[in-house]
Amino acid sequence: MARYTGSVCKLCRREGKKLFLKGDRCYTGKCAFEKRSYAPGPHGQQRSKVTGYGTQLRAKQTARRYYGISESQFRKYFDIAQKQTGIAGDNLLRICESRLDNIVYTAAFASSRAQARQLVMHGHFTVNGKKVDIPSYLCKAGDVIAYKKKSFDTDAVKALVDANGGRPVPAWIVSDRANGSAKIQSLPERDQITVPVEEHLIVEFYSK
Ligand code: SF4
Repeated sequence: MARYTGSVCKLCRREGKKLFLKGDRCYTGKCAFEKRSYAPGPHGQQRSKVTGYGTQLRAKQTARRYYGISESQFRKYFDIAQKQTGIAGDNLLRICESRLDNIVYTAAFASSRAQARQLVMHGHFTVNGKKVDIPSYLCKAGDVIAYKKKSFDTDAVKALVDANGGRPVPAWIVSDRANGSAKIQSLPERDQITVPVEEHLIVEFYSK
């Protein structure tokens, strides 16, 4: 599936919640959702009846858009999650959280997941000392992700890390901002994951 290249703010308005896809702008009065918290398009302000299927679809789309994952990849993650022990919905979100682009963003090394994805694709990161340029690379507990030294020494990257210095990093990641590296202590439990969805609705959506 082709990657979505339209306005990401429309995705927040479609889902009826802030997905924080634009970095710093999301925390300012310029946020499009703060100004127009209704769906985009000419009929966006009309109230329509939401079916059970519609609620499940919206939950799935919200999670997918929050992490910037294609439908086919998200479906694959669901299949993996179902085969793992534990609750499928929790497993699914944990897989999404373990993607390298998400870790880079969550460790406060980029302003958004989209930017983190681009930085990874451009070869600026290593995992356990080896270059990895695949945003969907799934990290494990104990992995150390780090900016390549050459990249970290550039003014642009230093400014980026400084600009994100105030963003809290969850306890499951130990971020060493001064050296541009972060260690995954453990993969997150559900209560450490902030994606605004009820994951059981996603499970119901794919279980039809
Ligand atoms: Fe969503 Fe951020 Fe755009 Fe606001 S600024 S609508 S939170 S992407």
